[in-house]
Amino acid sequence: ASNRTLAGAGLHNDDHIDLEDHEKDDRSVMKVPEGIEASIGNTPLFKIKSLSEETGCNILAKAEFLNGVGGSPKDRVALSIINLAEEQGLLKPHSGDTIYEGTVGSTGISLATVCRARGYLAYICMPSDQATEKSDLLLKLGAVVERVPPAPIIDPMHFVNRARSLAAEHTADSKRPGRGYFADQFENEANWQAHYNGTGPEIYQQCSGKMDAFVAGAGTGGTITGVARYLKPRLPHVKIVLADPQGSGLYNRIKYGVMFDTKEREGTRRRSQVDTIVEGIGINRVTANFEAGRELIDDAIKVEDEQALAMARWLVEKDGIFVGSSSAVNCIAAVKTAKKVGPGNTVVTILCDSGTRHISKFWTKAGNVGDKKDSRLEDIVSS
Ligand code: PMP
Repeated sequence: ASNRTLAGAGLHNDDHIDLEDHEKDDRSVMKVPEGIEASIGNTPLFKIKSLSEETGCNILAKAEFLNGVGGSPKDRVALSIINLAEEQGLLKPHSGDTIYEGTVGSTGISLATVCRARGYLAYICMPSDQATEKSDLLLKLGAVVERVPPAPIIDPMHFVNRARSLAAEHTADSKRPGRGYFADQFENEANWQAHYNGTGPEIYQQCSGKMDAFVAGAGTGGTITGVARYLKPRLPHVKIVLADPQGSGLYNRIKYGVMFDTKEREGTRRRSQVDTIVEGIGINRVTANFEAGRELIDDAIKVEDEQALAMARWLVEKDGIFVGSSSAVNCIAAVKTAKKVGPGNTVVTILCDSGTRHISKFWTKAGNVGDKKDSRLEDIVSS
């Protein structure tokens, strides 16, 4: 090693290093994991200092944007879905098999990347109103991207229906190589199981079981239900709180047992599009992944777009944390939950993805940090 590297490690050329016998043994059995999949999971949990100081609670964030494949909790889900399908013999690497998925982006990015690592092709259907960072990235990964107009779930061109039918067409066409596999993140229970097996136990260990509430938004519902199913039997006092953006029906489902109240019903037709700038969470139907843990959810908090925008700026300004819209929603709900459970308690939430995925939409609306005079936390959460 050069003198510079040695000095960087606090060593000098004439330092003599003797390995103890047990260290030699450890070295010989240490196995370097194979493949990029090893960078999925084991994300840090850290305290958000500003929010903790302001509320008198410990507000802890699980940094899921640090998953090393696609930069979101969906890395866990993509791996879990593909592993299960391989175990069931539904997918075979390097055989021309193509994974089809309907996604607003994060799951597509994780799937497209794990597909590359495992020898599959990815075909991603996503609504055309989602941030272009995500579709551009998917193209760079070599996925086929079909952007479909935003449509209600009853429409065959809804991104989920479109992916499902393309997968079936592929499988039915004997002239095409391999099979079409529909990943089906909304209904596939390998989704919540990824969080039951990974995110949940990691949180439990990282805070030594000392927590009083868990707060998360729901897109498919996999994160909140998987973590809730792990935590509730071990820590029954922990409050599971849904963070729901404006326009989503899940808040009413939890609070009142119905998807829509009369004000939110437009005529007699259910509104299927969630009217919010927030991406990745909020939905107007109950999916299998949400249903898997719905009864474990104790409370729901509605978050307005303006609150999320202000929280995103706050997190950069006070803590140097640059996140996307769903993380900002989670943090608003975490602060409100902290006020409910009271000082001295611990609230855990999720930072889902980085703000870099949201420059063209959410962060354009949020503006540059420092350009605006921002309000006090009190005003942000009560606005
Ligand atoms: N945040 C982002 C950015 C997402 O893409 C998603 C998933 N759509 C979520 C949060 C919500 O996770 P889940 O699907 O597990 O409810």
